[in-house]
Amino acid sequence: MLFSITAAFNSVTDISPEMLARLGIRGLILDIDNTLARHNDPQPADGVVEWLETMKECGIRMIIVSNNFYLRVKLFAELVGLEYVCDSKKPFKKGYRIAAMRMGLPKHALAAVGDQLLTDVLGANLFKIKMLYTLPLGNRNSRMFRIRSVIESPFIPKKIYCRGGKTAVDHHTLKAITYKERL
Ligand SMILES: [Mg+2]
Repeated sequence: MLFSITAAFNSVTDISPEMLARLGIRGLILDIDNTLARHNDPQPADGVVEWLETMKECGIRMIIVSNNFYLRVKLFAELVGLEYVCDSKKPFKKGYRIAAMRMGLPKHALAAVGDQLLTDVLGANLFKIKMLYTLPLGNRNSRMFRIRSVIESPFIPKKIYCRGGKTAVDHHTLKAITYKERL
């Protein structure tokens, strides 16, 4: 399977250390744009700094792997205190390989986190690691989001995890729903 997704989340901050432990994941390869921050926004999205701190405290290794250019990635990575691989050319394997080597973890303990089917999802599957999909940040009523939803929905799991019963968007119906299930 080239587009296999281990689990889908409303937001990166809905990924909990408990879920990662249950899935045997000890290291995350993180996308930036529309995952940790809005596209080209120098600031992380709401709750991301706190989420990163929690993950670090729980011993989760993390590294940014982004297709964006050097300065964008370097400045963001330094702001949140993470190592990075820029201009990574996802879905190709090289960036993932560098990240895995730097983290010193075997593939079965790694997961990629990202919002794009043709880069993050395909890349994780080509590199044969787990994939945690996050719905893209930004305006979910926008035309672009709706077009993406229609194209991508056959590949996105029906169940989208959302901590604390917040409202998520059902990727298949585009209706707001509330999930409380846990992995
Ligand atoms: Mg992205």
